[in-house]
Amino acid sequence: MTQPAKKARPLELKRYFAKRVTDQARHVLSIWRLVNQEYWPPQRVNDLIHATQKLVRYAEHFEETSHLKIATEITGLLQEVDTQQGPPSSHLLSQLSQQVQRLSQTAVRRSDLKHSLIPVITPQKPIYVAINDEELANKILQQLEFFSFRAERCASVEQFHQMMKQRYPAAMIMDVQFGNEERRGIDLLTQIQRGLDSPIPTIFYSNQTHDIETRLKASRAGGCYFHSRNADLSLVIEQVQKLTELTPATPYRVLIIEDSKLQAKQIEQIINNAGLLTRAVLNPLEVLPALEEFQPEIILMDMYMPACNGMEVANVIRQQSQYMSVPIVFLSSEQNPDIHIAAMSKGGDDFLTKPVKPKHLIATIKSKGERSRSIAAFVNQDSLTGLLNHTSILRELNKGAQKAMAMQMPLSFAMIDIDHFKNINDTYGHPVGDQVIKNLALFLKQRLRKSDAIGRYGGEEFAAVLPDTTGSDAMKIFEEIRQRFSQMKLSVKGQEFFVTFSCGIAQLTPENYKELCIIADENLYNAKHLGRNRVCYTDSPHSS
Ligand code: GH3
Ligand code: MG
Ligand code: MG
Ligand code: MG
Repeated sequence: MTQPAKKARPLELKRYFAKRVTDQARHVLSIWRLVNQEYWPPQRVNDLIHATQKLVRYAEHFEETSHLKIATEITGLLQEVDTQQGPPSSHLLSQLSQQVQRLSQTAVRRSDLKHSLIPVITPQKPIYVAINDEELANKILQQLEFFSFRAERCASVEQFHQMMKQRYPAAMIMDVQFGNEERRGIDLLTQIQRGLDSPIPTIFYSNQTHDIETRLKASRAGGCYFHSRNADLSLVIEQVQKLTELTPATPYRVLIIEDSKLQAKQIEQIINNAGLLTRAVLNPLEVLPALEEFQPEIILMDMYMPACNGMEVANVIRQQSQYMSVPIVFLSSEQNPDIHIAAMSKGGDDFLTKPVKPKHLIATIKSKGERSRSIAAFVNQDSLTGLLNHTSILRELNKGAQKAMAMQMPLSFAMIDIDHFKNINDTYGHPVGDQVIKNLALFLKQRLRKSDAIGRYGGEEFAAVLPDTTGSDAMKIFEEIRQRFSQMKLSVKGQEFFVTFSCGIAQLTPENYKELCIIADENLYNAKHLGRNRVCYTDSPHSS
């Protein structure tokens, strides 16, 4: 597992540099958020300009080309901003938002770092493990590291204080009886949390059973989960992941259908000022390609337009199954409540009367957007793992393949199947099997890029779409994931065992577009046939 120090050094360095670039990118993103929240005050805008320029320099210096490209674009766009004038034009703002969104999606894939075996994605901050029992603490540390978390142990109360002084953790696993004193862990955490804006998410552990009073105290101290003796470590890992998941608030995409150019512009400006993305369609007859291309999460619809009215357009949109659940909010000067009711019955979700107050408009968009996203998650995600479901991963493959062909970029597709999974169910029971599926899902999520789509293809089968990745690169990436996963002793509901998977890979070519799944599946079958726990990749089907 550990590399010889000599060999590891250049890789360590490279990782360190890459991290400086991603840290700076995160910094840019956080200033961007502030700039928009505060309506573009000159000082903040200057901060943003400086942070972006610094990102350009870092990315250049450390040869992070994707960051460099985006950061240069943003710097160029920021040059057009007049810092004394508040928010820039909606057009410029929308261009900026798009680049910022790209930046937020550019994360370094662990295995991009020349396929090292060094633990990969390091969240910004470590996880602190303050557990009395050394053996248990080490086991937790090891599991966390397997799943690419950075973890550090606090072995004593003094060390706890020292570490807290140095740096706050992203999350904490805390012994209720830390330092072997009754409820000391809860007291320590309560003290620390007092001075903090946002509490440190904490998982409490105790080797005793407790009354409700202790559990209440733990919860008040910021305890999000509580485990007693024989904690299920795989569950602990899953909870750490939930608590530390960086949910970059990707802005909502709002489509505005409005025939008046002036009104469309005003509405766009209000929405852009709130940091959200817009696209305006002035001619309702052009709505279909705009839907397809922009994939809005909310639609704002004018009521009266020359070619047809808003209710008719809403009807047409609703007739397409993929847009059935996108909220449509009518915007009109119409005061007649009968018309409002009629509009709602045609699939409208709300009715705002013009002139609408910016605050109301934004509040409506945000509440509809939130609902829109949770419905989308319900429809597109697998409920056990949170990965994309079968239909959605195939849709992503289709979308990705079309884009890759249009841009003449490579794309790979991987299919993964857990080996002898039936045995795991038979030996340890179905709930343990479920947890193994969740563990592998989490492992894949941690190791692949954000721009890769990962899905649960079926029972114990997964699939991944890797844009901008050749088959042989995908092979290396999955070979590393396979090796690491097979070396990890899973610890589920008190049982410990190893699990392996097999994987088949296919690279997109203009000729094999329709057969990509079949080729990956055949390669997966070959991997099974050759003895399992391996990755197979061939360019074409039937050529094993
Ligand atoms: P192979 O190495 O050839 O893939 O063998 P296998 O045992 O993994 O494959 P097989 O297809 O024979 O069995 C898959 C098993 O996975 C059968 C099914 O009961 C189980 N399974 C499917 N979905 C789930 C699930 O969601 N949870 C659990 N626990 N088991 C599942
Ligand atoms: Mg109109
Ligand atoms: Mg199977
Ligand atoms: Mg299987």
